[in-house]
Amino acid sequence: MKVERKQSVVLVPFLLQGHLTPMLQLGSILYSQGFSVIVAHTQHNAPNYSNHPEFVFHSMDDGLKGMDMSFPGLKSIYRMNESCKAPLRNYLVRMMEEEEEGDQLACIIYDNIMFFVDDVATQLRLPSIVLRTYSAAYLDSMLTILQQPEKYFPFKDSQLLDPLPELHPLRFKDIPINVVNNTVHAPILDFSRSMSDIGSSVATIWNTMQDLENSLLLSLQEHYKVPFFTLGPFHKMAPMASSTSILEEDNSCIEWLDRQAPNSVLYVSLGSLMRIDDKELIETAWGLVNSDQPFLWVIRPGSVYGFQCAEALPDGFEEMVAERGRIVKWAPQKQVLAHPAVAGFFTHCGWNSTLESILEEVPLICRPFLADQPVNARYLSQIYKVGFELEVMERTVIEKTIRKLMLSEEGKDVKKRVVDMKQNIVAAMQIDGTSHKNLNDLVDFISALPS
Ligand code: UDP
Repeated sequence: MKVERKQSVVLVPFLLQGHLTPMLQLGSILYSQGFSVIVAHTQHNAPNYSNHPEFVFHSMDDGLKGMDMSFPGLKSIYRMNESCKAPLRNYLVRMMEEEEEGDQLACIIYDNIMFFVDDVATQLRLPSIVLRTYSAAYLDSMLTILQQPEKYFPFKDSQLLDPLPELHPLRFKDIPINVVNNTVHAPILDFSRSMSDIGSSVATIWNTMQDLENSLLLSLQEHYKVPFFTLGPFHKMAPMASSTSILEEDNSCIEWLDRQAPNSVLYVSLGSLMRIDDKELIETAWGLVNSDQPFLWVIRPGSVYGFQCAEALPDGFEEMVAERGRIVKWAPQKQVLAHPAVAGFFTHCGWNSTLESILEEVPLICRPFLADQPVNARYLSQIYKVGFELEVMERTVIEKTIRKLMLSEEGKDVKKRVVDMKQNIVAAMQIDGTSHKNLNDLVDFISALPS
């Protein structure tokens, strides 16, 4: 049956993998609800068009040519926000001129790091909606800190483990704003304010679950005063499971997993952006070897400072590990986590990885770095109790934590809780569940927007 697509939505993702993925998943969700989906993206990290034949793509000149994008900093983010303004505006103007009766552009949905979109939408009198690709806990803690930064910065080394009662379960160490020498610089505060601000946007869409974060969402809603649509987990709500990977996935690790015993393998990955030094790589390597557990380890090219890929591993490491361990440059992560051989996930706690792990009932070892990761790690280990936090990157501690997760009674309890947590989330996706109902409300909301 051919679906008549009456309204279009324009999606503007941010260029990092962890942001692009949920935006494309949201696109699939909205497409399945009868909207035409246009993705206006940067040239850098452009999505793979052939994986999404249902979308229309539009590439914007992002001004990033020649910049080092191995870890995008504020300079590139602001430059991109400036450069993309005219291309997006011109494209939208053309679209609106060519619009036929009944085939309207309903709204623009943008990642909160693409804050320029709000200006463009306001100029063109188009409604805009913000996408939050992370947890409510992260934004809530960031807003609390932004209201009174002098209360938190600078802090002393001796305070790192002190609790922050108003931000329970966070400690100074877990503050989700980038600090240098235990203090924060004004440009970082300005950036955090820009990404938390919604300008004149009319609503917010979240890749989280209302039942999981209800009180935090309610408190945030009081602050923002616009409707929230909480539709998570996107990767399970999206009807099409097309790959959203920017890097090429090494599928050979699935065959390797097929040869492993059920519930025996630790999957190790620090996401698409985080980097470690060679010392940390070596400690992790020895922790894995000494734990005696099978492992699948993603070592992304460029993810070890000063090295191209895995050359910093201890001499003879691969021979020593032999068939018990497998190293790849990039894995089909969702498939890996869904594999019956996988028993645990050693992760940096990015929000996508967190949701992907919980939805496959895989308990976690949490080794966060920055931004929302420390918040996720604290909630996972202290509130939901579905993982163990790794505080020190030292081989004996790593070995002990792996054994605790994979072999101990405590590990079994953590596994039971992740199974329960998954069931509660799955309930949110059923016909009468919150994510499902919120999706219906979002469809009505977008359809009723003034055009
Ligand atoms: N990912 C993947 N293969 C890998 C490592 C990561 O497909 O080898 C995907 C993972 O499934 C997730 C995304 O990359 O969807 C990483 O997003 P996340 O929010 O977890 O972390 P970020 O990369 O933004 O730090």
